[in-house]
Amino acid sequence: MNFALRAIRGTTASPLRRFIATNLQRRTMHIQSIPMWTGSHDNYAYVVIDDKTKDAMVIDPANPPEVLPVLKELVDSGKINFKGIINTHHHRDHAGGNAETLNHYPQVPVIGGANCDRVTTTPKHDEIFKIGEGITVRAIHTPCHTQDSICYFLEDGEEKVVFTGDTLFIAGCGRFFEGTAEEMHEALNNRLAKLPENTRVYPGHEYTKSNIKFGKSVLDTPAVRDLVQFCEENEETQGKFTIGDELKHNVFMRVEDPEIQKATGETDPLMVMQKLRDMKNSFRG
Ligand SMILES: [Zn+2]
Repeated sequence: MNFALRAIRGTTASPLRRFIATNLQRRTMHIQSIPMWTGSHDNYAYVVIDDKTKDAMVIDPANPPEVLPVLKELVDSGKINFKGIINTHHHRDHAGGNAETLNHYPQVPVIGGANCDRVTTTPKHDEIFKIGEGITVRAIHTPCHTQDSICYFLEDGEEKVVFTGDTLFIAGCGRFFEGTAEEMHEALNNRLAKLPENTRVYPGHEYTKSNIKFGKSVLDTPAVRDLVQFCEENEETQGKFTIGDELKHNVFMRVEDPEIQKATGETDPLMVMQKLRDMKNSFRG
């Protein structure tokens, strides 16, 4: 690769240069974030596009006034074929825009957990479906925040991403509204932790700044300090960090770290998980 790049820089044969540059930059999976930040909202919808076929699905289009104009522009300009809604769980700030979206695009399926509004298809754990020709989607059931929480692991060649709803946030996790510490431990530290380390994380909310403030109160490492710094300089963190990064800076994914055991006063991983959640719930940084 380095040799090839040096060779390109050194040549004036522009057709070859263009050909190689195009292929080096080729990206088949395209993700467009739609921050839904009006009022007190702080969540994200995402449009995932298979560049080859232009087939696309939208993840958690919760606030139609912010999402529909973007979708409409993409559909009307021929940039996408809108093929479906995907939900990470049933909460209104994720699935609450399904009905209005279906008013405009009645033909599309709603793929999501059993309790999501207007759901048509609930994939089984580890079930696979496709977006267009290139993108393979694997449903990972992660019950806890809600019992119908599903994370979606997408692969397109070398590119890997995971949409985690309110189960995994950058440097944090969702509240255990319908589940237990044991379920969150299984979700984070077995199912999601086993994804390839270079999988980029797209969570349901932009909570990173407050999450890492809490994280730093129980774990002061270079990885944690780097993320504090990143949040000083960047408002958006979705897609910027990987599962490998989470394993370093997310305290909920380090329940066996001695420093975190010391901070929680617990050693059993499930007790550490529960204690961390309780401490985060009452944390006023
Ligand atoms: Zn939620």
